[in-house]
This record gives sequence, C-alpha cells and structure tokens, in this order.
Amino acid sequence: MDSGENQVATRVALFTREQIDRLPERAREVVEYRKSGLSLNHIQGCPLDCAYCIRHTYGLWDQRVPRALMTDAQAVEELVDHRYFQPHVTPVQVFNRATDPFLPVVRPHTFAVLEHLDERELTNHVLVITRHQMKPHDIDRLNRLRHIKVTLLFTYSGIDNKDIEPYPSSVAAESLKLMSSPELRRYRTVLYWRPLVPGLNDSPQHLDQAHELAAYADATVFTGLFYRNEIAEYYKANGLPEPYEDTARRKIVPETLEARVLAVFGSATPLFRKTSCAVAYAHGLPDYNGHYGIPELCDICPLSQLEICRSAHRAPSPDQLREVARSLPEARGLVVVDINDHAAVVSGLETEQPRYYLQHALGFQVHDVRHPHRERRHGRADIGWKDGKPSG
Ligand code: SF4
Repeated sequence: MDSGENQVATRVALFTREQIDRLPERAREVVEYRKSGLSLNHIQGCPLDCAYCIRHTYGLWDQRVPRALMTDAQAVEELVDHRYFQPHVTPVQVFNRATDPFLPVVRPHTFAVLEHLDERELTNHVLVITRHQMKPHDIDRLNRLRHIKVTLLFTYSGIDNKDIEPYPSSVAAESLKLMSSPELRRYRTVLYWRPLVPGLNDSPQHLDQAHELAAYADATVFTGLFYRNEIAEYYKANGLPEPYEDTARRKIVPETLEARVLAVFGSATPLFRKTSCAVAYAHGLPDYNGHYGIPELCDICPLSQLEICRSAHRAPSPDQLREVARSLPEARGLVVVDINDHAAVVSGLETEQPRYYLQHALGFQVHDVRHPHRERRHGRADIGWKDGKPSG
C-alpha cells in the first residue's frame, strides 16, 4: 500500500451474483472497445449526476453508488486476455463509461489497475478521464509507473447550469492545474473540453476561460454532446433546456461554433478535434487512430506533430488487413471494399468494435462502408452542418 489515504480509503463493494444478473446486459460487459481504446469498466455507478451521462443509454442511470463486478486483478486479467487486447499496441481506457476513476471510493481501484498493468511491463497508452478532485500525492504515485503511457484527461465544460452539471467544472480545472504543475512527470495531461453546447457554454467568456485553462495542459481536445434518444428523453422529462431538436449517433459540434473556438485558440495553443490526436501529441507519438488520413482534421495540428504522423502513415495492403482480421471471429465476413491513402473501407463487420481493433492494429483509418466519412464533419453528427455550411 502506498499512501496514507489509500490505507484507510473505503473500497467499492462487490455486486452480489443476483445483483449482477439483474444488471442490463451492456452493464455486465467489463471490457468493451470504444473509439479511443479498449475500455475497462468493472466498476459501475456514479453519484455526480451529469444530465448527459452515457449511463442513460444502457439502463444504468439509477446506479449512483459505485459497485464492482469483480476484483481489480480479475478485471485486468480479463482485459489482457481479451481477444481485442494487443500488448504495447491497444490503447486502454479505465473507468470511462460508468463511473469517475477518482471518486474517493474508486481511486484505490484505479491505481490498482494502473499498477497491475505496469507490473506486466506493458507500454500501451492508458487514458484516465476524470472531472474529480485530485491530490498532490497522486503525482508521486503516477510518477512511479514505469511502462504504461498514462494520460489524464480532465473533463471540463464550464457549464454553470446545476441541473445539467451539478458537480462544478472548477474542480476539474483545479485538478488539471495541480497535476500539470510538475515540470518533470511521466504522465501527460489533456484538457478534455466537453461537452460544448450552443447556448449553454459557448459565450465569448466561456471560450476565453477554456483557452486560459488550456495553457496548463499538454494538449486540449474539444468535442460536443452525445445527444442520444435516452438522454433527450431525460432532458424532456426533467424540463432541462434541450440543445437540439434531433438526436444523433455521433457527437455534435456545429460548424459555426467550431470556427469560433479555432479563432479564440489561434495557433499558439495545441488544440485537437480528436481525443487520440491530443493524447498522441502529448506523448510525441503518431496518432494511433491514423487520423492523418483525413487531412482536414490536421489543419490545426502543430507542424512538428504533422511530421510525426506523416512519417508513420502507411496504407496496409488488402492481405495485411485480412491477416489482422483473421484472429477475430466477428470479422470473418470482412470484405475489403477499397484502400486508398486516406482509409481502408470495409464491409461485413457486425459491430463497431472489430473496426476499432483493426484501426489500432494498423494505425490506419478503417471505415465501414455503411458509415461513410463526410468531408469536414470530422466524424461528427450532421446536425448544425449543411452542404459544408452550418444548418443552424
Ligand atoms: S497530424 Fe493529424 S492525425 Fe496527427 S495528431 Fe495531428 S491532427 Fe491528429
């Protein structure tokens, strides 16, 4: 045990077998591939009550007390034995779906997971996203990790409507400043500026505050709101101001808002549209999602980073792609439709998860023919964009 706090910290209780059986199916999924990495979520539940929480989308909104589905050691085993996990390659995210990794009862588990991974001498990226308060001794504990590439992403929105975000953004801002303060540290920090919502947190003052905060971080990424059906229903039922009339599969950042963000940031502060780009830049490595293949994403990227990504950018051959897919049962129906300098276009994948596996294994964009890439939308929803121009 490393610190006084962790010797006395209360840990999360385990769910009973009956409780686990009653959980929605997706909540029982401990390892899940999400866009920025393979996500480990053996603790579920959060009391911070952000109205737009992803827990709405899989029937777990009422789980406010964090509980564990298994021990940390078992969860790490499950992660590294998972067919999607590639040592030193697969980016990992810890507790990014159903809880906050630095809630007082969750933080011992977060450190345990990081230390288990590090003891295995794995060098994978590990992303830890939090809005919670961090403590000075967290710096020392994170600095003791020798192998994994840790990035702390601080969720900050500047939203001051307490019905939407009861836990104040100022806490995340202070945590970012604290954790970024040592000149020498082994982990990296990212200002995760989200969700940006028109009319809620996009005033000139909001944008200026985020810009000031960005100076502390190694990199900043900005993104919009996942306004899915379940979240829209919650907004309606609770009389919350609805940001959009429609819902969408992807995150929403209208083009006019993006233009205003870029104008405030200028070129002196490293700003990215994609989480993986911010993480990669912070570590001086090429983007592991191969976004370099989508040149319009890179027009705000520092020149030194463009060079790093350019040098790493290699289109795979169809045979290489099929070879990488061979180990996945759910990719047996894979058909390579096209490979060009931007992306490999495939069909026959049942879900999004194997697509992420292929993308990370190759460091190259893999697109599903059913979800074509739209130029200049940057993988975001259509709302707010029309023929390359804002629709509202
Ligand atoms: S060059 Fe492009 S792909 Fe690479 S980090 Fe920058 S924005 Fe991302």
